[in-house]
Amino acid sequence: MILTATTVTDVAVFDGTELLRGRHDVTFDASGITSVIRTGTAPAAGTPVDGTGATLLPGLVDAHVHFRDLEQLSALTRYGVTTALDMSTWPPEFLARLRAADHGADIRSPGAALAGPGGPHAHIPGFPAEDLLATPEQARRRVAARVAHGADYIKVVLEAPGAGGPELETTTAVVDAAHEAGLRVVAHAAATGAVELGVRAGVDILTHAPLDAELDESFVRVVADRVRAVVPTLTMMAGTARNLGNPALSYDHARDTVAALHQAGAVVVAGTDANDAPGVPAAVPHGSSLHDELELLVEAGLTPLEALRSATATAATAFGLDDRGRIAPGLRADVVLVTGDPASDISATRRLRSVWTAGRRLGDVQREAPA
Ligand SMILES: [Zn+2]
Repeated sequence: MILTATTVTDVAVFDGTELLRGRHDVTFDASGITSVIRTGTAPAAGTPVDGTGATLLPGLVDAHVHFRDLEQLSALTRYGVTTALDMSTWPPEFLARLRAADHGADIRSPGAALAGPGGPHAHIPGFPAEDLLATPEQARRRVAARVAHGADYIKVVLEAPGAGGPELETTTAVVDAAHEAGLRVVAHAAATGAVELGVRAGVDILTHAPLDAELDESFVRVVADRVRAVVPTLTMMAGTARNLGNPALSYDHARDTVAALHQAGAVVVAGTDANDAPGVPAAVPHGSSLHDELELLVEAGLTPLEALRSATATAATAFGLDDRGRIAPGLRADVVLVTGDPASDISATRRLRSVWTAGRRLGDVQREAPA
C-alpha cells in the first residue's frame, strides 16, 4: 500500500499536554503520525503544508454527544472534532451505521443509556422500555446485553434518590457488572443528589454539572478523589438554565461547581451534549459547540492550556483511548491546524485552517466557527 505523507511545516505544536518549545515539522500519513521534529533539521516528507502563524493540535474529542443522523458525523469534523463519545444511541442498527461510516468523526458508544423506570429519560419518545432498570438483577442483565452488543462503556442515567432513577443497590450492580466486563461507567447526574448517589456507587465518570445547587466543599474533594473524570457539559447546562427559566435552577451553580472541582484537582473533560432531539431542554449543535464549551471551561477557571487538554489528551486518557489525543509518533493522525495560539487565547480554536482524520485532509476548512 502506498501511503501519501503530509508534513505540516514550521508550526507551533500543542501535543495534547504542553505547547512544545520552538517550531516543528510534523509528518503523518494514514498509518499515523510518523515524526515530530524541529523545523530545519530535515527536508519535509510528502506534501508540505505551511504552518506559519498557526498551531497544530490533536484532533478534538467531544466527550458527550448524541446522534440522530449520519450528517452529524461530518458536522463534527468540520469543526475539528475527530472523536465523538456518544452517550446514548439506539436502535443498534443505527449505531452500526454510525460506526461503519467512512466519513466524519470516529465514535465510541454505550448503545442506549440505562435509566430507571420513573425518571424523565423513561418518557423520552421512543426510549427503549426494555432498557429501564429497577433491580440489581435487571442491571446485570442489561449490562450483559450491552457488552454483547459491543458497548465501549456503560451509560447510566441517575436521579436523586427517590426521583425515579435506579437506586443505590441497582446502580452498584451496574458498576460491578461493567467493571467485571472491563468497561467504565459514565453516569448522567444533573442533580446534586444524583452526583452523591453515583459517587457512592463507584461510577467512573460523571456527566453534567447540577443547576440546582453548587456541590458543597467537602463533597467536591470526595468527587475529585473518587471519580476518574467529570464531563460537565456547560454548553448544555447554560442552554437549559436559559430555556427553562426556573428560578430554582441557575447556571452559576454549574460553573461554580466546575471551578471548585478543578481547584480540588478533579479531572475535567470537555463535552457538549450536542443534541437536537425533540423535547431536549436545549438544542446544542454538533461541532461548533465544542468551541463554546472550551470558552465556558476557561470562564470556569481552567487556563486555555488546561481547556485544550480537556478536549485532547485528558479526554483520551479518561476514556482509555490510548491511540489518540496527543501528537506523537505512532498515534492516530487526527490533527487540527488553527490560526493563532489557542494556548493563550482559547477562541483561536475557532480559526480552523485544516482538519485531518486518520491522515486524510478534509476539504480545506478556512472558516470561523460562530462565536
Ligand atoms: Zn446527553
